[in-house]
Amino acid sequence: MPLPAECRLCGASNEEQRVVTPHVYGSESERAFFRCGVCDVCYLFPGLTAQEEKKFYAAEFSKFMTSRAGSAAGWEQPEAHVRSNEWMLQRRMKYLRPRLPASGRVLEVGCASGFMLYPLAEEGYECVGAEPSGVFGDYVRSRGVPCFDSVEEVASDPAYKDGFDVIMHAYVLEHMSDPYGFLKGQVDLLRGGGVLIFEIPNSAEALITMYDILEFERFYWHVGHHWYFSEDALSHLLERFGLPSEILLDQRYDLSNHMIWARDGKPGGMGRFTEVLGQELEDAYRQALIRARRCDTLIGVLRKPGG
Ligand SMILES: [Zn+2]
Repeated sequence: MPLPAECRLCGASNEEQRVVTPHVYGSESERAFFRCGVCDVCYLFPGLTAQEEKKFYAAEFSKFMTSRAGSAAGWEQPEAHVRSNEWMLQRRMKYLRPRLPASGRVLEVGCASGFMLYPLAEEGYECVGAEPSGVFGDYVRSRGVPCFDSVEEVASDPAYKDGFDVIMHAYVLEHMSDPYGFLKGQVDLLRGGGVLIFEIPNSAEALITMYDILEFERFYWHVGHHWYFSEDALSHLLERFGLPSEILLDQRYDLSNHMIWARDGKPGGMGRFTEVLGQELEDAYRQALIRARRCDTLIGVLRKPGG
């Protein structure tokens, strides 16, 4: 197994690096995930080469996601994607809402079908998307929201040179080979007083750290992710910016989903038993995981002073 000379995030020496798992979902060559004893990040090593990464994202991503999550995820169909993400929209709005300015310009990086942007556009925010998938990009533009292939294209467009009030993304950062550089590019695009807010998986989540479900572990550690952050690892990254920051905790998946993982070793259990268990129990379960800091989601917030 190839061993890293140092942590890919903080540069700590090889003595601080430990193997988490040598099983990497979707990898065609020998790779492992390592955990750094200094910054606590887990990372893929070796990372994908530029060529492997291009191949992975260009053609395979939608197919890959569909095969992982099942056809109900509606990845192939932008309209179905908007509908199937209604719950994601409602959940993300709970923490976004108190952090949004009354008006202004919003950029979502990796906006997919644009499901987060349409309600904000209706409220009068000037919304812009960045999305590498051509099918989604075309759909977002067809709904009247400007959408670019990349953040670099947005940044080089004179129409947006005075920046954004809000930049957001969800489940994008962990796919980036240089997470600091990726966020730095967005901080530079923020107006004074602007906020950068993003969601990532939490490596301390219950399915990994409490329940020890082998099938979940095989599914979770996958080659599309360079990084898995814990609260400590995310703090380490955010502190490098020297800006006011916050970390929020959330739980996406419900008790039913966890029960199906435990019983069948498969995803797709969301809501399965909720009719019997009741929403109150599902909510209490989510809150318990958040209180125990074993929830599945971390939200990072960076603010740019001024404005
Ligand atoms: Zn490190």
